Amino acid sequence: MESISFEEARKRVLVRARAMQLPLAVEDIELSQASGRVAAHAVVADRDYPPVARSIRDGYAVQLTDFNGTCEVIGELRAGQPATISVGAGQAVEIMTGAPIPPGADAVVMVEHTTRSGSQMCTDRCPQAGEFINPAGSEVRKGAVVVPAGEVFTFPRIAMAATVGSTRVSVYRKPRVAILSTGDEVISIAATPRDFEVRNSNAWSLAAQVERAGGVPTILPVAADLYNPTRELTEAGLQHDLLLLSGGVSAGKYDIVETVLADLGAEFFFTRVAIQPGQPVVFGRARDKFFFGLPGNPASTMVCFEVFAKAMVQLLAGRTEPDWAFGWATLTHDFRHKPGLTRFLPARLDNGTLTHIPWQGSSDVPSLARANCFLIADAGRDLWAAGDWIRFLPI
Ligand code: AMP
Ligand code: MG
Repeated sequence: MESISFEEARKRVLVRARAMQLPLAVEDIELSQASGRVAAHAVVADRDYPPVARSIRDGYAVQLTDFNGTCEVIGELRAGQPATISVGAGQAVEIMTGAPIPPGADAVVMVEHTTRSGSQMCTDRCPQAGEFINPAGSEVRKGAVVVPAGEVFTFPRIAMAATVGSTRVSVYRKPRVAILSTGDEVISIAATPRDFEVRNSNAWSLAAQVERAGGVPTILPVAADLYNPTRELTEAGLQHDLLLLSGGVSAGKYDIVETVLADLGAEFFFTRVAIQPGQPVVFGRARDKFFFGLPGNPASTMVCFEVFAKAMVQLLAGRTEPDWAFGWATLTHDFRHKPGLTRFLPARLDNGTLTHIPWQGSSDVPSLARANCFLIADAGRDLWAAGDWIRFLPI
């Protein structure tokens, strides 16, 4: 299969993931546990918000009939009190932010625009009808959806659920994601590697990425570059909701992951993408489960997860939309690359400006650890001057 563009590859992931018709399991949890979880049932407003008209300033509630800038103050309304006083022409009620608008009042004059002497309030302002008043139901109506199913409980949505009195919420069960590292040279991170060995850092970065995307990672034992162990562990991985393989998808003699997957009846949606790092990345489905074969160099694994697999985890988690939170920043230096590949390179974003971190290529974990984002070099452009805008993907 030939190489496809980055945009086409991402589209294929999204199309396949959205076509899933999985009956996602639902669980009820305490609101205190809901941060980052995906709503399975919509949260609805239990009453109008605000339930009555409220002042959004400290000041004076006044009636506009025959208003001439001088009013007799007939009382005070604090937040947390019912509106028991009525305002007539030429009268005002001192009112605090959040307090209900008294009957008869049709505007609020900010306290900063008034002077007070005894029971008289004076202002040189001519308030507009409704000024500084939030009418009843103006934010949301009773019964309306305030957090739709498929949305993540961010902190404002937690506030929303709390506002409507949802002490418990329904969320989707987190997808279980298997992580299978392959490679004769890959050993446990607790072991001491010989000079020709590397610790299995990919399993750990992937587990962190899976968790952040809303999945539950399971790290499987490392598969040696042999057919039988790779097949057995791949079959075990396909028991999960999603399988992430690291390594073994390049063109080397011992890169057997694709052979194993093909023998397990896999359908491949792409096996090569015009990106760097991560060109040999594989995406497919076997035994009714999606899998990604991520090239083993640490930067390739990290980038391919962020730009492809993350969206899959988020959609498996029940989200309506995955996030694709790239930003724009200006470069601190000229930047050139060879067009044809979309590149994701370690960079630092400081005060809105972006600096590429020099590196030794996609095995250079120390440079990745210094980065706080990936600079995105578009495949169709070769040169950026210092000060030019460029895209980045936060880490
Ligand atoms: P591969 O994609 O299997 O050809 O692996 C490419 C390179 O990535 C290897 O030479 C290793 O140095 C490195 N690598 C592979 N798997 C891992 C892993 N699980 N953790 C850290 N580095 C890895
Ligand atoms: Mg390998």
